[in-house]
Amino acid sequence: MGKCKICGSPGFTYVPEYKGYLCKEHYSRFIQAKVDRCVKRHGLLRGVKRLLVGVSGGKDSVSLLHILSHLYRGRIEIKALFINLGIPVYSAESMQAAAKAATLAGVDIDVVDIKEEYGFTIRDAAELFLERKISRPPCSVCGTVKRYILNKYAVEKGFDAVATGHNLDDFTRFSAVNIVTGMVKDLVKQVPREDSIHPKMATRIKPLCLVSNEETRKYVLANDLPVVESSCPYKPPPRKLSSLIAGKIDEIEGEIPGFKAMFIGNLWSKILPMLNTPREQLRECELCGMPSSGKVCSFCRLRETITEAMSKERFL
Ligand code: SF4
Ligand code: ZN
Ligand code: ZN
Repeated sequence: MGKCKICGSPGFTYVPEYKGYLCKEHYSRFIQAKVDRCVKRHGLLRGVKRLLVGVSGGKDSVSLLHILSHLYRGRIEIKALFINLGIPVYSAESMQAAAKAATLAGVDIDVVDIKEEYGFTIRDAAELFLERKISRPPCSVCGTVKRYILNKYAVEKGFDAVATGHNLDDFTRFSAVNIVTGMVKDLVKQVPREDSIHPKMATRIKPLCLVSNEETRKYVLANDLPVVESSCPYKPPPRKLSSLIAGKIDEIEGEIPGFKAMFIGNLWSKILPMLNTPREQLRECELCGMPSSGKVCSFCRLRETITEAMSKERFL
């Protein structure tokens, strides 16, 4: 292992941008500077005084909280939110990691327990799906639940924006799949900042959009951050198209370092501005009052389906 190009102490990892090694300290500063540049270039904290960070206990969200706290704590108010999804073993371990990460970052953390708040868990949804009593797989239910709760919590508690840990690899993979499958509605959401378009919708920001999977993995190691070790039992095998595309993108990045950042940068600056997609018209859900494109929001429809299926089970 070579020496750190900046300070000469033992190197931690090779960094292509430096064409050499960096120690843990300078590697961490390099990643933090990358996030800070992205935040400034894309105006991620424009108008944001209070920021809610969704922390799942995984490497990306734990790194995100650490980096944001390091860069901006004291200048803006930062709070973490953990959503207890009720997934056996995994949720308890994730909650421990998230709580430790928040303590380390010097940030308060709150927990929303979906069983207590809404009467079901992702485990319930997974079992109903296995028994063919609901049609949506656990990850689809989980995605809707997390998006809804993060937004609702942020709006009700007066946060200006919600930050999540989507990284460069998520952006390139989702964008490429959306292009190939023609999902323009989803493609336009692959941006670092989605402004609020409704009084009950918080602005969403993704400050790790130029930091890769590998970089957050190393950031966790360099800073000895607590992350959940187990994996979610409901995680499905990757979809064939998505994993093939991700594999090819990795291959190209290996041959042409910086390819992923170039792809996503051109998407943001040149391609998306040419797509004249009208923004969704939102009204308030008749059941919960949160933003919705139809009379009842997707979360309330999902909740009704699951509670109905659960009550039928009880009577069988
Ligand atoms: Fe939720 Fe799926 Fe992730 Fe498990 S793998 S936490 S069910 S999104
Ligand atoms: Zn150094
Ligand atoms: Zn609703």
